[in-house]
Amino acid sequence: MTDRIDLITLRLIESRIRNARSHGSGTISRAVRRVIVTIATADGLTGWGEAAPWAPFGNVAETTLAALDGALRPVLLGADPAAITARMEDCAHAIAFHPEAKAAVEMALWDIAGQRANAPVHALLGGAVRDTIPLSFSIADPDFAADLARAREMFAQGHRILKVKTGFAGHAEDLRRLAALRDALPELDLRVDYNQGLDPFDALVRLRDVERLRPTFIEQPLPRGQERAMAALAAALDTPIMADESVYDATEMLRAARDGIADCVSIKLGKCGGIGPARALDAVAAAAGWPTYGGTLWEGGIALAAAAHVLSTLPNMTLGCEFYMPSYALAHDVVADVLQASGGFVRVPDGPGLGITIDPAALEAQTVAVA
Ligand code: MG
Repeated sequence: MTDRIDLITLRLIESRIRNARSHGSGTISRAVRRVIVTIATADGLTGWGEAAPWAPFGNVAETTLAALDGALRPVLLGADPAAITARMEDCAHAIAFHPEAKAAVEMALWDIAGQRANAPVHALLGGAVRDTIPLSFSIADPDFAADLARAREMFAQGHRILKVKTGFAGHAEDLRRLAALRDALPELDLRVDYNQGLDPFDALVRLRDVERLRPTFIEQPLPRGQERAMAALAAALDTPIMADESVYDATEMLRAARDGIADCVSIKLGKCGGIGPARALDAVAAAAGWPTYGGTLWEGGIALAAAAHVLSTLPNMTLGCEFYMPSYALAHDVVADVLQASGGFVRVPDGPGLGITIDPAALEAQTVAVA
């Protein structure tokens, strides 16, 4: 007897963030909205998924909720939750795009599969090659003095990777912030992320200045769509370029490698559409000689647990992850056991399924709408 999907509950939630965060693609303040997906089966299992869209990547929580409600739920109800590949094929045919919604469904199905097998998701994916993932924290507070104090404190606690968000306050200010961090903490693995904030016209001149501060990589300097100019930058600079907004999935990764638009890539479940697509993207990147990195949109503990499971199984994922939201950016999350991120590392969950425990009171308190 196969199990069947009995009930899908969609919750739009709103979570306050600890401080405003600025990026080359805009500032986020006060709160972020996410969608929490619960899939219940006839056998009595419950899987959890999360979508945390960010508008510059194409969706907001309300459009994701609409895709889940109007297109994905109808093709999932009554179907076998264990046939994950078949379920995701159904989802692919039900609606184009919407990788955040599809990733949320897929992680809930993997959560169910893991609970049924009494095994963590990473074990079902072939096993982890690492128990912990080095954590990168993003310097994005409009109040840089606060970030500098935070950086010193985190370094003292064992953090070695910081990523500075640039491209929102002018070139001189970008250089001042980077130089201050390089001065204060010379041993730092310092990275730079423009979030598409430069123009092709003068990007090379600016990035040659940035290069003098010895960043490990420079992420997405130019807008998505400017891939020819990205390729010219990648060829001209010694510092590796990371593609984020220019590469969502394996198909775009193949094109990016062919055109030489960067040297490494950020994998986000919410860009590519889930655990399976993340493995495909990583495989193409590995074949191209591009190491990968665990990126995020605005995910909390459910989605980041799913991401930690899959990234722990990828030998090519050598650049760490930015899974800090529940520990350092969100004021509240919906999981009781926030993904452990301390001492500069994220610990890969080891319980059955995604290995998370939901806090029902916290979920209720943040719920804006239920569908
Ligand atoms: Mg980025």
